[in-house]
Amino acid sequence: MTESALTRRRSDNPQQETWHVYFGDVHVGTIGMRAGVPTTADQWAWSVGFYPGTEPGAHRFGSAASFEAAATAFKAAWDRLRPTLTEDSFEAWRRSRDFHAWKYRMWSTGRRLPTQNRDGWSTCFCGDRIPIASEAHIYTAHRGIGA
Ligand SMILES: [Zn+2]
Repeated sequence: MTESALTRRRSDNPQQETWHVYFGDVHVGTIGMRAGVPTTADQWAWSVGFYPGTEPGAHRFGSAASFEAAATAFKAAWDRLRPTLTEDSFEAWRRSRDFHAWKYRMWSTGRRLPTQNRDGWSTCFCGDRIPIASEAHIYTAHRGIGA
């Protein structure tokens, strides 16, 4: 895998500033303003970790007085987590993202999942017949559907 830098995308909630932090195409953490905290408390929070792909026990989080301080703490935590990750870690997250997007598309197009049919088969929105073990179809025919 080629090394990627961290990038940020702002969430679409205008009421509360939240930044989703990505490593390549994987959402690896968040930096955002805390809601409902006293003005004397840290106004920013950060969290590093993603699931599936990293165990919840490996996730790190904290608060900071400013966005810059939160971003610095985030980066330090990421730099400690990153060497423990493999391409499989990121692939687990991508597959989960794509599976959920695929399932949502199935539902939104009025189709049943193979697990919902007695014979264990269904027809994908793309027209393919798919068995209960439909992961191979999702991760090949619809790779990136949730990106
Ligand atoms: Zn399909």
